[in-house]
Amino acid sequence: MPTSPARRFGLAASKLHRASPDGGLLSWSRHSGAAIRAMGLRLHAVGGAYATLSRSADLGGYEGLVAYPSGGEGGLMRLVSHIAGGAYENQEIDGIVYLIDPVDPSTLYPEAQALKRQCVTHQKPFISTVAGAIEWMAVEAVHAGHVDDTTRQLLDVSKRNLALIAHDALKDRMVEFAAENFDLLSRAPTRVATGTTGQRLNELAWSRGWPQGTPWVHRYLSGPLGGDAQIAELVLDQRCDKVLFFEDPHVARQHEADIQLLERSVCSVTRHATCANSPAMARRWAQAVTLASGTQAVRT
Ligand code: PGA
Repeated sequence: MPTSPARRFGLAASKLHRASPDGGLLSWSRHSGAAIRAMGLRLHAVGGAYATLSRSADLGGYEGLVAYPSGGEGGLMRLVSHIAGGAYENQEIDGIVYLIDPVDPSTLYPEAQALKRQCVTHQKPFISTVAGAIEWMAVEAVHAGHVDDTTRQLLDVSKRNLALIAHDALKDRMVEFAAENFDLLSRAPTRVATGTTGQRLNELAWSRGWPQGTPWVHRYLSGPLGGDAQIAELVLDQRCDKVLFFEDPHVARQHEADIQLLERSVCSVTRHATCANSPAMARRWAQAVTLASGTQAVRT
């Protein structure tokens, strides 16, 4: 097992996800509890999420499970501070799992919005769905050196229908990411993008020998003209299950509502879809996919 310091994740969940035995939180702990224990991953869990997990078969009694106050007592606000580094020594956390029910109004509170925004600002993973939380534990496990059939399956890009979107300041980073991972991304059965991002990606693909005139990504409208909403519809129809959205947290976005709509569509199909909001998150996923698929050939 790993020797580097244990990674720390903040954890919160909407009521829907912590209410029942087949809710998202307990489904996640059933899938990922053993991996979490094996990695020694620390979970800094807000109020109700802590209460649910501390009574669960998979993570009850786990010493890496740390209680934070409830949302009403500032638990989520503290997680935001800790993502940014914290007000005091030794508080920093490495990422967030926040299982979001998109019709729970508390997911629109400023602290909930700030939680994602600070993750994007600090290039730390922000995971908002059950599928994403299960997948991300596989990402962490592979980076910690554990690859098995389950992680390989969870990180099999030939089963992922991708959406690729980047705000203007991050379009070069998206092209760079696609160039670095061109073969990996080309293994996905389908790729879609918003208009301008898609144009840049197709030009990259043609420069890399993809057949001229054949799009590498199917382009929808530009984001501000409705492209994000078109891709959200694909997500809702389960025709797209991984959204790589390089967000610019430093500018006011005229189409903020559309951006939120797309990210919340992912949460509407929480057991199916995942979203990565920053280049660092996408890169950590892609590295894990490469590591997991690289070990396939040497399996006996
Ligand atoms: P664009 O849209 O790729 O057409 O620039 C992206 C967005 O801003 O949502």
